[in-house]
Amino acid sequence: MTATVHGFQTQVTKLLDLLANSLYSNKEVFLRELISNASDAIDKLHFMSLTNSEILGDDATFKIRLKADREAGTLTISDNGIGMTLEEANQNLGTIAQSGTEEFMKQLTGDAAKDSQLIGQFGVGFYSSFIVADHVTVLSRSVNAPASEGVRWESDGSGTFESENIERAARGTEIILHLKESEREFLDDWTLRNTITKYSDHISTPVELWTERYEAPKSADNESEGENKEQDKEEEKKPVFEWQQVNDAKALWTRNPKDVTDEEYKEFFKHLAHEYRDPLTWAHNHIEGDLEYTSLLYIPSTAPWDLFNRLNEHGLKLYVQRVFIMDKAEAFLPNYLRFISGLVDTDALPLNVSRELLQDSAVTRKLKKALTKRALGMIEKLSKDPEQYATFVTQFGNVLKEGASEDYENRETILKLLRFASTKDNTPTCNVSLEDYIGRMQSGQDKIYYITADSFESASKSPYLERLRSKNIEVLLMWERVDEWMMSSVSEFSGKEFVPVNASDLKLGDLADKDEKEKEEQAVKDNEDLIKRFKEALGDKVSDVKVSSRLIDSPACVISEYGRQMYTQQMKRLLEASGQKMPEDRYVLELNPTNNLVQKAYGEADEGRFKQWAELILGQALLADQGSLKDPGEFVKTLNALLMG
Ligand code: ADP
Ligand code: MG
Repeated sequence: MTATVHGFQTQVTKLLDLLANSLYSNKEVFLRELISNASDAIDKLHFMSLTNSEILGDDATFKIRLKADREAGTLTISDNGIGMTLEEANQNLGTIAQSGTEEFMKQLTGDAAKDSQLIGQFGVGFYSSFIVADHVTVLSRSVNAPASEGVRWESDGSGTFESENIERAARGTEIILHLKESEREFLDDWTLRNTITKYSDHISTPVELWTERYEAPKSADNESEGENKEQDKEEEKKPVFEWQQVNDAKALWTRNPKDVTDEEYKEFFKHLAHEYRDPLTWAHNHIEGDLEYTSLLYIPSTAPWDLFNRLNEHGLKLYVQRVFIMDKAEAFLPNYLRFISGLVDTDALPLNVSRELLQDSAVTRKLKKALTKRALGMIEKLSKDPEQYATFVTQFGNVLKEGASEDYENRETILKLLRFASTKDNTPTCNVSLEDYIGRMQSGQDKIYYITADSFESASKSPYLERLRSKNIEVLLMWERVDEWMMSSVSEFSGKEFVPVNASDLKLGDLADKDEKEKEEQAVKDNEDLIKRFKEALGDKVSDVKVSSRLIDSPACVISEYGRQMYTQQMKRLLEASGQKMPEDRYVLELNPTNNLVQKAYGEADEGRFKQWAELILGQALLADQGSLKDPGEFVKTLNALLMG
C-alpha cells in the first residue's frame, strides 16, 4: 500500500501556522501534551484490560519512554497504550472534533506566553508538537489490530499529512519529533528531565528517559597497566545507556495531603483540567468509614468558555481502586457545580461500572451528596478570602445561583455564598452577602428587598427604588438572566422573606410609619377624581390605575397585575424567540399625584388632549420598566402632538 496524502481540516492548518510561527514562549508544553496523551492512551487500555486481561499479551507493564537521538536530531515519545488504527490516526490527528478550536482562536490574545498555554484546553495538544518540530512521524498500532495493520503518519505541519498502513510489531504509539535546528535543547538530558518533572511528575505511569550512565572511573591500578590504556580510551568514548525512570509515578491523590506541596497540586490541576492558570483553591480528602473514597476537587480561576452551555460535558474523573474508569462522570456533582474539576477514587463501585449503572446506583447518590457538601464547604472556605472570593463570584457566581433554585437541600448554604450588588454603593460589583444585608437592615425592617431588571442601569435607576431609598432601605440589584429564575423559587433566607420592589404590596410593616399611612389614605381620597379621569382615558390599556406609595420623583410606574412580573423582558424575548406564546402582560398604572407632569395633565380641560397626556405618562412608565414599547410609533405620535401644543 502506498501512502495517501490528506489535507488537514482548515481549522487545523490555521492552528498549525500559529503554533509554528508565533507561540515560542513556554514551548516546552509540547512535552506535557504528548506525555499526557500517552498517559491517556495507557489509561484507556488499562481500563479495557480490566475485563479482558489477555488483551495485554506479554507487554503488560505500562510505560512511557522518551529517547533523544542527538545525531538524527529527533526526540521520540513512545507508549504501550491503546494505539490507533489508520482511520483513527487520520481522524484524531487530522481534524479537531470539538468546536473548541474556533473558541481557542477567539481567545488568543497575541501574547505568545499566554496563548501557548491555551493549547491543552481545547483538545489540540498533539499539534503543539509543531512548536518545536518541523516534521513529525507517528508510528502506531491499535491494540485491536494485527501487526500488518500498523500505521505511519507524517507531516511537516503545513497543509497536509500522509499516512499508510505498515507492518509494526509493537502495540502503542511512537511520536518522533524531528526538532527544528533552534530547538535542539530538547535533546538535552537535563532539559528533558527538568521538563518531565515539572509537568508530569504526577502521571501514574512511569516515564522513562533513555539516559547515559557514566561508569565509575577505572581504578588507578588498572590505569598503570600500560598495555590496556588504548583500550580504556576506546571504552570511555562509548557511553552506556539505560532506561531511567524520571517521574514519581505515584498517583498524587493517593498521597497524604500533608506530603503534597501547593506546587504539585497546581501542576496536577493543569494536567487534569487542561488548564494553564493556577486554580483558585482545592480540597483533597481521604474519607474512611461507611463510604470510603478519596476526592480531589478544584475550583479553576477562570470560567471555561462554554460554562453556560448546560449540555456541555463536565464532571469528575472517576477512579475505582486507583484505576481510571471514566472522564467527565457527571453523576457525582450537581449541574450547578459544573465548574469544579477533579476526581473521585472509590472502592465502593465495581471496576466494570458503566455510565448507565452510575446513574442509578445508591453509592453514586451517596457520593454525590457527600461531594456536593465538600464542594460547597470548599467554596465557603474560599469566601473568607475577600480578594479570591471576588474572583470566584465574577467567574462562577451566576452558576451557583442555579443551585439556589435547584438544590433545595443545600439552598440556605448556597444563598449564604451568593453575592449581590445593592443600592448601598450602587455599583455593579457583587459583594453584598445576604448576611451583610440582614446585618444592615433598618430597625423595624424584616424583609429582604430586591429588584430584577434587564441591566444594572435599569435596576439601579428604577423608579421603584425611590420610596425605599428615601427610607434608607437597602435593595439588592439583580439583572442577570438567572436571577429571575432563581428568585422565582427562593422565598426566604434565614427566616426573612424576599420581596421584589415592584410587588403590589411592599410589606413595609413598621417601616411605613403611621403618619405616612394616614397621608397615603388621604392622598387616595384627595385624588379620587384624578384617578377616575386617568382610568377612563386609558380604558383597557391598563388593568387599573392607583395612587402610588412608592414614588417620590417620577410621575408614574407600572406594576404587573399579578403583583410581580412573571418574566423580565429579556427572558420574554428569549421565550418568544424560541416560539413560545407569551401571555399578554397587563399592568396597573401607579401615579404620583404630587408630580408636576401628572398635575399638568390633570389640569388639561380638553378630554381629547387629556387622553394624550395619560397615554404619554403610561408610555413613559412602560418604557422605564421595559426599555421598549409594543407600539413605539404610536407613542412618538402622541408625544409630538403634545409638543406641538
Ligand atoms: P486531546 O488529548 O485533548 O483529545 P490531542 O490533540 O492531544 O487532544 O490528541 C488528539 C487525539 O489523538 C486524542 O484524543 C487521541 O485519540 C489521539 N492520540 C494522541 N496521542 C495518542 C497516543 N499516544 N495514543 C493513542 N492515541 C493518541
Ligand atoms: Mg491531549
